[in-house]
Amino acid sequence: MYSEDDLLPISGLQHVLFCERQFALIHLEQAWAENLFTAEGKILHERVDAEGHESRRLFRQEYAMSMRSLEHGLIGKTDLVEFYLKPEGGVAEAVPVEFKRGRDKEEDWDRVQLCAQALCLEEMLGITVARGDFYYFGAHRRTHLEFSAELRAATLTAIQRARAILAGERTPIARYAKAKCDRCSLIDLCMPRWTAGGGKRVSQFIAAELEAGREGCSR
Ligand code: SF4
Repeated sequence: MYSEDDLLPISGLQHVLFCERQFALIHLEQAWAENLFTAEGKILHERVDAEGHESRRLFRQEYAMSMRSLEHGLIGKTDLVEFYLKPEGGVAEAVPVEFKRGRDKEEDWDRVQLCAQALCLEEMLGITVARGDFYYFGAHRRTHLEFSAELRAATLTAIQRARAILAGERTPIARYAKAKCDRCSLIDLCMPRWTAGGGKRVSQFIAAELEAGREGCSR
């Protein structure tokens, strides 16, 4: 069991799957920068978060619900959870729903995030969460996801990988990949072409730059 002070943000699992260096820059070095993609995602989630909640008999929607799992060491917030209630009281089924910009991705980034939310809900509610939904704004429709044994295993692996990077306290070296780096909001901080193979931390780079500046001034 993890303590309250040792919980990993669920969003970090997407970062570690997208790029381990990006994960380390954000969660180890506390670096952050917005770009068009992150700003669009933020606006979209603010819209969703402002929805509040809706109740009908035996059905309830809860937007922006906080969640955590001490067993898996996770903390986060879902866009929406839909609760199907038992007539005699209690929750029969809970379905986490994520709203996303763009369209369904080939990679597991979003699916692992939703599965991590399911792990939290299972611990909080004491029930099995078998499925979740995505609403991709680019496709204007919901898609369904089963939390299969394979997806659960991939989610646990992503958690372990993220924890290993945090424990190692070492930012992985940059590996420039056009498809990822050109859409990464941290590209100016990461400088993948400059740091590739060097493994320097951003803080080391900044310190070196400041030092160079001081030397320049004293000349
Ligand atoms: S710029 Fe590329 S290597 Fe650097 S953090 Fe982003 S995706 Fe990773």
